[in-house]
Amino acid sequence: MNTLKIGWIGLGNMGNPMVKNLLHANFEVTVYNRTKDKESDLIAAGAKSASSPAALLASSDIVITMLSNDEAVLAVFNDNNGLATADTAGKTIINMSTVSPETSRKLASICASKKLNFIDAPVSGSVKPAQDGTLVILVGATETDFNYAKPVFDVLGKTAINVGLPGVGSSAKLAINYLLGLNLQGLAETVLFAEKNGVSKEDMLNIINQGACANGITAIKAPAILNDSYPAAFALKHLVKDLRLAKEAGLNAPLIQPLYDSFKKAQEEGLGDQDVMAIITSLNNN
Ligand code: NAP
Repeated sequence: MNTLKIGWIGLGNMGNPMVKNLLHANFEVTVYNRTKDKESDLIAAGAKSASSPAALLASSDIVITMLSNDEAVLAVFNDNNGLATADTAGKTIINMSTVSPETSRKLASICASKKLNFIDAPVSGSVKPAQDGTLVILVGATETDFNYAKPVFDVLGKTAINVGLPGVGSSAKLAINYLLGLNLQGLAETVLFAEKNGVSKEDMLNIINQGACANGITAIKAPAILNDSYPAAFALKHLVKDLRLAKEAGLNAPLIQPLYDSFKKAQEEGLGDQDVMAIITSLNNN
């Protein structure tokens, strides 16, 4: 058994497989999720359950949050029986959700006032790397805090890169998701342009993935495009949130506004809970 006791809040598409990896690595894990029935398969796999975020923190050395957005993370901190209400100096809270750098610094400040350590550690990589324990973890932390959490990062990711103090990890995450959005939009536009001129999706995806323009995104999203089926690995609404946060954090490059508008439109068309690759459905309809 690993000696660090882990508390985990947020059992969505990412949190569930990440907790499973910690259990497989013999960490003692206690979970809390707003919708309780999402805890059951993890309890069956050996996790304990806590009645509230505060109770979770009281029984853990490290608490990790993996939640939708800034509002969700702030609610889990500040609500009745939230993390900030517990009297638990010396423990460590790691936020792995994608939130704004400003929110990360706010969380660090709340933690400092409670004598808790805070790390921001958003991740690059989707459900498959979460399942495989091959996420890239973008850490904002002091060196001491980073080293303390390293055994956990080693299980969840293939690498953890400490890019600065809390807030800077979130800045790195917004930057990489801008590139993700550009890749998805470019892939969708390219396949649709080719198809309208007589090149099948199969042939165009083959051309892309055999050539120098291939990358992890063009490879992993090809089956979804071919099957025209987009169950969420990374929900489109979350990328809309990330592009908005990038704009708010000062990204003012020529492509950010049209990129944001394109994904926002797809969300407004009802595609928000589909995978990000469903952008191709929206573009095909317009
Ligand atoms: P998800 O499947 O939508 O799960 C969201 C989680 O947040 C659920 O546990 C949900 O609880 C909880 N939640 C939402 N609002 C809440 C609130 N107000 N109070 C308490 N809990 C709340 O999201 P995900 O795909 O796991 O993503 C989690 C985070 O990782 C997001 O910030 C996302 O941007 C980021 N991320 C995702 C991916 C990906 O590929 N999926 C990749 C990298 C980063 P309920 O079960 O009760 O709804």
